[in-house]
Amino acid sequence: MSSRADDVVPVDEAERDAWEAGLLRDAADLGDGLWGIPVAIPEGTLPGTLAYALVGDDGVHLVDPGWDTAANLGRIERAVRVAGRSLPDIATVVVTHHHPDHLGLAERVRTLTGARIVMSAAERRVLAAAVDPAARDPESYRATLARWGVPDGRHDELLASFTRPSLTGDVEPDLLVGDGDVLELAGRRLEVIATPGHTGGHICLADRDARLLFTGDHVLPRIYSGVGIGVLAGDEPMGDLLASLDRLAEFDDFTVLPGHEFRFTGLAARRARIAAHHLRRAGEVAALAAELGDRSVWAYASRLTWTSGWHGLDGFWLHSALRQTEMHLGLVRSGRAAAWLSRG
Ligand SMILES: [Zn+2]
Repeated sequence: MSSRADDVVPVDEAERDAWEAGLLRDAADLGDGLWGIPVAIPEGTLPGTLAYALVGDDGVHLVDPGWDTAANLGRIERAVRVAGRSLPDIATVVVTHHHPDHLGLAERVRTLTGARIVMSAAERRVLAAAVDPAARDPESYRATLARWGVPDGRHDELLASFTRPSLTGDVEPDLLVGDGDVLELAGRRLEVIATPGHTGGHICLADRDARLLFTGDHVLPRIYSGVGIGVLAGDEPMGDLLASLDRLAEFDDFTVLPGHEFRFTGLAARRARIAAHHLRRAGEVAALAAELGDRSVWAYASRLTWTSGWHGLDGFWLHSALRQTEMHLGLVRSGRAAAWLSRG
């Protein structure tokens, strides 16, 4: 299969093919003490997460261990054994963000091994907000629906989808990091790159010597990951995401190790494509703003184009559409949209 110049290039076509077939491969030796460990997601639409292990004289260090299941722990244990170590050698678990398919196993690994958990300070605040019972209070969501201008007759279906319990448990990290911090692990220097957008405190990790970039869910080769899935009040996640895509420009010739799908090169093209994907919607909202001005999120959403049609949206999907509209309106109203939209 030939690839276009504007396309990503898989590092290993078998890895891509396995993902597309929904198969989890065995852990793979990626060289120089780096291991790729596919782990499963037991619910949802994606087959799995890509965990990584860095093996060195100072122990084994995991990046995003995956969903908290016994089977995934077994996968990690086997991979560590194949690498010539054992579970107690795990010294560090670094997470790119707090979602259960990335952070999930961290607490269980810490309990078993004494490993320290590393998270960004910003993501720690996002996690605290996500597990706060107040965040699940229907009254706070009713206030959101009122702010969005949702007609009363649509509140019940939205409340029903909202009150599902959080899948993320609270985790107290041992080490908080921020943009520019360097983690020295397995003889590598991993630089923390703050990339808010997918969540408010998402980080990437750059190994400048080996020209590797761990991107979590910030940049995936084919999937457009969600935006603003865990933020703090006052955040403007769409603009943050676009800025975080720009932020990675200095790593455009690095090999990308994402949290799902497959490793790839061609980061510049992928960054551009993800930005264009979101800016199409932002452009639509910006064009409506001349007519709708400060009208409600509902008023805007009802005028945008939706795959299943505006009238086909209900429950969680209606919530998702309204939230997406709110974020794009936030981008446009912040004044940040103009700079990106004018790039063409
Ligand atoms: Zn994920």
